[in-house]
Amino acid sequence: MPDRSEDDSRKLLRRLRDSLAEPGHGQERLNRITSLIADSMHTEVCSIYLFRDEETLELCATEGLRPESVHKTRLRLGEGLVGRVARSAIPVNTANAPSEKGFRFMPETGEEIYSSFLGVPIQRVGEKLGVLVVQSRAARQYSDDEVYALEVVAMVLAEMTELGAFNGEGEGEALGALHKQPVMIRGGTGQEGSAEGQVWLHEPRVVITNPVSDDAEAELVRIRAAVGELRVSVDDLLAAQSLDKDQKQVLEAYRMFAHSRGWLRRMEEDIQAGLSAEAAVEKEQSATRARLSQVPDAYLRDRLHDLDDLSNRLLRILTGQGRDTGAELPENPVLVARNIGPAELLEYGRKLRGVVLSEGSVGSHAAIVARALAIPLVIHAEGITIEALNGDHILVDGDQGFVHLRPEELVATAFRDKIAMQTQAQQRYAGLRDKPALSQDGRLISLQMNAGLMADLPSLEGSGADGVGLFRTELQFLIRNKMPKRDELARLYARVMDAANGRRVAFRTLDIGSDKVLPYMKPQDEPNPAMGWRAIRVGLDKPGVLRMQAQALIRAAAGRPLSIMFPFIAEYAEYLDARAHVLRQVDREAALGHAIPAQLEIGAMLETPSLAFAPRAFFEAADFISIGGNDLKQFFFAADRENERVRRRYDTLNASFLDLIRHIVARCAETGTTLSFCGEDAGRPVEAVVLAAMGLQNLSMRPASIGPVKSLIRRSDLGALHRIIDAECAKGVETVRPAVMDFLAKQS
Ligand code: PEP
Ligand code: MG
Repeated sequence: MPDRSEDDSRKLLRRLRDSLAEPGHGQERLNRITSLIADSMHTEVCSIYLFRDEETLELCATEGLRPESVHKTRLRLGEGLVGRVARSAIPVNTANAPSEKGFRFMPETGEEIYSSFLGVPIQRVGEKLGVLVVQSRAARQYSDDEVYALEVVAMVLAEMTELGAFNGEGEGEALGALHKQPVMIRGGTGQEGSAEGQVWLHEPRVVITNPVSDDAEAELVRIRAAVGELRVSVDDLLAAQSLDKDQKQVLEAYRMFAHSRGWLRRMEEDIQAGLSAEAAVEKEQSATRARLSQVPDAYLRDRLHDLDDLSNRLLRILTGQGRDTGAELPENPVLVARNIGPAELLEYGRKLRGVVLSEGSVGSHAAIVARALAIPLVIHAEGITIEALNGDHILVDGDQGFVHLRPEELVATAFRDKIAMQTQAQQRYAGLRDKPALSQDGRLISLQMNAGLMADLPSLEGSGADGVGLFRTELQFLIRNKMPKRDELARLYARVMDAANGRRVAFRTLDIGSDKVLPYMKPQDEPNPAMGWRAIRVGLDKPGVLRMQAQALIRAAAGRPLSIMFPFIAEYAEYLDARAHVLRQVDREAALGHAIPAQLEIGAMLETPSLAFAPRAFFEAADFISIGGNDLKQFFFAADRENERVRRRYDTLNASFLDLIRHIVARCAETGTTLSFCGEDAGRPVEAVVLAAMGLQNLSMRPASIGPVKSLIRRSDLGALHRIIDAECAKGVETVRPAVMDFLAKQS
């Protein structure tokens, strides 16, 4: 920015700050600010619009427009020029506002006489707070200096809003709307269950208390020192020995940003204009975000994350607010984060009452860990990291995928009633722990649990599971940052077998690829990873890990019976190859003098429709088959299990899917092959009872589902239900759900 306006800008910021320091209600302060800005910028109008909710902007203060329109004039996001600035987060500067595309005339404000318009976003790093507008009668384009000056002022306003400067005193009304009022955020279910507690931000936001500075020289020294420190830390990262070529490439781009002269120069200009070093970092962070988020190119958007990350690091260096802020975990912590890695989540462990992520996915590692720990998890809770502050009261509804932040007492009371009911139900289910899953017509169903972490082991006793129908071995690989060693795995598998105490554990060999990417393996850039190089395909192409796992399992069994199954087998030959690898390891271990399993079962997961139509020889050869319903369903319906838009689109009780299940049951019956089902549907009582009715005698599910599923099976006549299902399918219905629900309602 040229020197001429630097002084003006600094003066304006100082006046702003002094005016904010004076006592008064939030509204009085806003009024003072608008007249101050209009005066300093020689414009007839200055108005502040703030978000009332995510979609609505409200005129909150004005100098020049009709005072009666304050708190009356509202605009939707994207509506008119103000709405356009709010949506794009990019300034609009025009000499002839009425001729602009999207202009909307608001008669109550009396703005028709003003021709020129300049609007800039009031934002704080991706958090849109409102729009600051100046208008003049004369048809003139505002200069770059003026645009810049208004942006700097907007930055200070954003910080002030954050600090609550515009909250009404005593009246409890928040003009800034954020961080005070109750908010409900609708996300998705990651793990069922309900929880009440206090927000614990995994990565707390850096709080800036001094957006305006009097001493530009001192701030320049600070920013240069901080950038220097940042550069050294990035260079250190890059010098680390263990980086492979790809990681190096990514870090090089990161380093380039850290060393970018333009970045530092822009921040220096902001400081010259009167901002503090911290506010300058944030101003550039917001601006870059706004610019880059408009870019459709995925590579550039990724770089946006790099820049964001660097800006955050820089802020931490400047403010000395590290990740560890010294704050203590509240009594009932609910973790709130953009995303979290599995190892970090495990570190918190069962201390957490709930987890809310603004990103995440159902199959993410965090979701898998949350499930193992039985912690309610809501994913896709957009905006939660912006809205929530440490210590805020929060209700997590993992069943519906809702979050209530700072709830009204009425909502909290209703929620507590729901938790109480769930606790009661859990107690009822606990009473069934030692009872068999025996149906009304005398059919015994074996209910087993899915596991994968040591944290799951206590559930083996508590849930009353008959064994572990699916042990996802990849979780042990996912939570580490380097490949586990054979002996370490052998010790771990032995502990699992010890905990099972003679009950069967079906160990599934490594299922990686698709969404499960090991941090220490080179990521594959595949166009369609769910159908790509994953699971047994990796195991057969690079059999080192498969062999190592087989050895670890044989050693862990130490002469006890052992069950192994392979994920994602699509054809008979794959099963034969994988089995041959395991059998060779048995011979090798025997030759080395290790005890071999008393009994060895080698099974396959049926997760692709093709395997249901494999030659009879496959069904004869496999010791057991386990239907991986999650994958089988996604490939049967061609509906991505990770994609919120489509993952619930097709019903498991769809007659065509049940026809496939019927076919698999019949084929296994022909050859006497043991069949089980271990997808999520096995843990949903209605789906589970339908599967049981159709001939699935083994169901494996998350431990918390065993009680509800057992309870329904014990109340059901499976033979009668089977007849209803067949009759419905014969009628040609799309889904048997209505008839099944009707039947179940009548029987209880
Ligand atoms: C499945 O696909 O149903 C299954 C149990 O495996 P995962 O969910 O681990 O892919
Ligand atoms: Mg699967």
